Amino acid sequence: MPDPTLPDVQMNLVRPKEPVIGRLVGSESCMKGRSASFVRHVDIDVSGTPLEGNFRAGQAFGVVPPGCTAQGKPHSVRLYSIASPSWGEDGEGKVLSTTVKRVIDERDTDDAQVHDLFLGVCSNWLCDIALDAEVPVTGPSGKRFLLPERPNDHNYVFVATGTGIAPFRGMVKELLEHPDGPCTSQIHLALGVPYGTDLMYDDLFTTLAQSHDNFHYHTAISRPETGKRRYVDRVIVESEAITALLANERTLLYICGLKGMEDGIYRHLLEQGIVDQYLNWPDDIPREPSNVSERKVRAGARCMVEVY
Ligand SMILES: Cc1cc2nc3c(=O)[nH]c(=O)nc-3n(C[C@H](O)[C@H](O)[C@H](O)COP(=O)(O)OP(=O)(O)OC[C@H]3O[C@@H](n4cnc5c(N)ncnc54)[C@H](O)[C@@H]3O)c2cc1C
Repeated sequence: MPDPTLPDVQMNLVRPKEPVIGRLVGSESCMKGRSASFVRHVDIDVSGTPLEGNFRAGQAFGVVPPGCTAQGKPHSVRLYSIASPSWGEDGEGKVLSTTVKRVIDERDTDDAQVHDLFLGVCSNWLCDIALDAEVPVTGPSGKRFLLPERPNDHNYVFVATGTGIAPFRGMVKELLEHPDGPCTSQIHLALGVPYGTDLMYDDLFTTLAQSHDNFHYHTAISRPETGKRRYVDRVIVESEAITALLANERTLLYICGLKGMEDGIYRHLLEQGIVDQYLNWPDDIPREPSNVSERKVRAGARCMVEVY
């Protein structure tokens, strides 16, 4: 089975120094319930800009929040994963979407006396604004975290933590709601979040799993009120179906979310003797789990990784 062929995509049509104006046309919570964190699904109309019709599921776009830093410099661009299929939310590539988590914390400094509220600039601005607000946008960016050109040639294992779910919403919709008919390959999606109420797009994925026999939706809750903590890599390790699918040479592995979430998955691939199908492991590096954590190995052609 040859490596997947990825489509040619448009890149950097709009540069961060000269953003174009999109408009907010949708903003709603996409969480399962009330939680200590806040994540919104936002839709941005980019019609009439170079982004219209020129983005793909899995790419990111930029948002330049208004205003200046404490040093008086204009705020820099922030990247957000596109959560729409390649035809957008509207079917015509005019409206793209993303999944924004408000960055909210106590300020973390070397000085124990400084612990005021820390609010991320762009995420909170994007979650605050009202419909019809202007959104300075840039992009698109990313040419590797994409669905292959011939989707039915492959199976898919998608693994996300938190807002890492954004590109998978777009990809799963693209695979299962394609105008030419749904993809018939096996698709597993695993999402890890701290609390059950943090699950994003849970209704969508549950409904898709009910209506498509080839789509399987798994969740892992790392801080449950009762019961055992479960991280998302355990879904991969403990699922016989996913482990068997990963051994299939048609399968592609996609990982998106928190930095470091790859380790447990890569160690599992090593234990299963299938690590070379997904990682480029240099000959002079011993095949030991610690070398996974030390990042001595890199994702290969069948493994797409986006962590931030
Ligand atoms: C390819 C890519 C795709 C992404 N996709 C998404 C996405 O789909 N959804 C999403 O929500 N985000 C996504 N992000 C992250 C996003 O780009 C922003 O980084 C995020 O929204 C925070 O931006 P902000 O302006 O709100 O925070 P900022 O104002 O930029 O603050 C964040 C910075 O402040 C620092 N900081 C954080 N907490 C504290 C604290 N308590 N005390 C002191 N300093 C602190 C951090 O070091 C961090 O550098 C993505 C990033 C990349 C690179």
